[in-house]
Amino acid sequence: MKTLLTIAGYDPSSGAGIVRDMDTFFSLGLHGVSVPTCTVIQGPKGVQNIYPTPMKQFKEMMCTLGELPVEGIKIGVACNAGYVREAATFLKNREGVPVVIDPVLSAKNGTLLIDEAGLRNMVGRLFPMAAVITPNIEEASRICGMTIKGISDMKTAAESLLRMGPAAVVIKGGHLNTNPTDILYDGGEFVSWERKRIDRVIHGTGCSFSSLLVSFLALGYGLKDAFLESEELMEGILRAGYRIDKEGYFYMSTGVMMAAGAKRWNVIKALQEAKARLLMLNPVELVPDVQMDLGYAIEGAEGVEDVAAFPGGIGRYEGKIRISGDPVFGVSCHIARPLLAYMRHCPRSRACANLCYDEIVIRKAKQRKMEVVFFDRMKDMDRKSGTETGNLDVLVDSVMGRAKRAPDIIYDKGAMGKEAVVRLFAKDPVELMQKMEMIRP
Ligand code: PLP
Repeated sequence: MKTLLTIAGYDPSSGAGIVRDMDTFFSLGLHGVSVPTCTVIQGPKGVQNIYPTPMKQFKEMMCTLGELPVEGIKIGVACNAGYVREAATFLKNREGVPVVIDPVLSAKNGTLLIDEAGLRNMVGRLFPMAAVITPNIEEASRICGMTIKGISDMKTAAESLLRMGPAAVVIKGGHLNTNPTDILYDGGEFVSWERKRIDRVIHGTGCSFSSLLVSFLALGYGLKDAFLESEELMEGILRAGYRIDKEGYFYMSTGVMMAAGAKRWNVIKALQEAKARLLMLNPVELVPDVQMDLGYAIEGAEGVEDVAAFPGGIGRYEGKIRISGDPVFGVSCHIARPLLAYMRHCPRSRACANLCYDEIVIRKAKQRKMEVVFFDRMKDMDRKSGTETGNLDVLVDSVMGRAKRAPDIIYDKGAMGKEAVVRLFAKDPVELMQKMEMIRP
């Protein structure tokens, strides 16, 4: 297992610093170890205070981790010259291990995170040992002593920073007036990455980027590929930013983004497998005239866009089940809305299919000791206004509110212009098909 080390600040709200770095390392399948230089007391509203780690404690941690064969090192908030010197000693015997330095100077609200002497030492002692340094425009201006207004100033600053000793420089252009553009420079050609501005204040972007970069370098990517790969991932992570309180900064996480991707992928894969199995089992008697919908939701689904189904539904043709499309998210309100209402009461049951009503189906379900609940759609249509799918939400909600145990089936006998429908619920498509087999006429 490759192990990466981060030496940075500890943000207890998990927005920046070592928690953010660890999240990145583990999300990319790398083991992370960390040594905090300080604890930065903060939440979504910004930094309140900073407590440097007692030097004895810091040295002991560095000493213990020094015995590990780390394959990449990231340095963020260094606090002061004492921690910089310790980090420099640590790096001395580790030639060839990629070191990425994010020279964080201050928090968003202006609180200083490194003092003057610390910064001088970082430039003099650590920059020459870095594979890449990753200042933003403010940090680059301060270190180079120049004003940076546009891309051409960024290039001049990158040349000046490269002369301070690192093998390469990335300047992050989030503070530009135009679209944010980052540039990479290693003395050859400039490589740049422009992104659309996201209108949110997101905490921890610099930490995420530098930890991605060191991860890809440790994984063996060349510098340019590591830069491009990190930038591409940043696009997704930034877009998936979220709030942890009603107001304040947005937060971001590689892990959260990847978990969301994995959840969606698992749902699609399960439906693809269900398609093959359905075609094989051919429960054609259960397909209603309006077509069968089979939906499967991600864990914690909140809206129709979190439920996948087959576009165009599942039909029958010449005695055989017919499924024309592949599963897609957000294509079926008919199945998604009752399923979402059901999941509000029973979050573990994430699959649902609407089947053709038949008394034999209901009888078989009861014989098999399934929980079967009827609702009278006719009465409901008289009583309630709104769309048909809207009504289904309310109906399922009220049925679930009354149910002693989670129903396997909620059925109705139709209403004016509405076919009678049996809605079958299960924890996943596999269980759903097992239940279908149990109730087939
Ligand atoms: N690292 C730590 C430990 C911090 O506390 C902060 C800011 O508060 C930063 C890095 C910089 O984070 P930001 O991306 O919010 O500027």
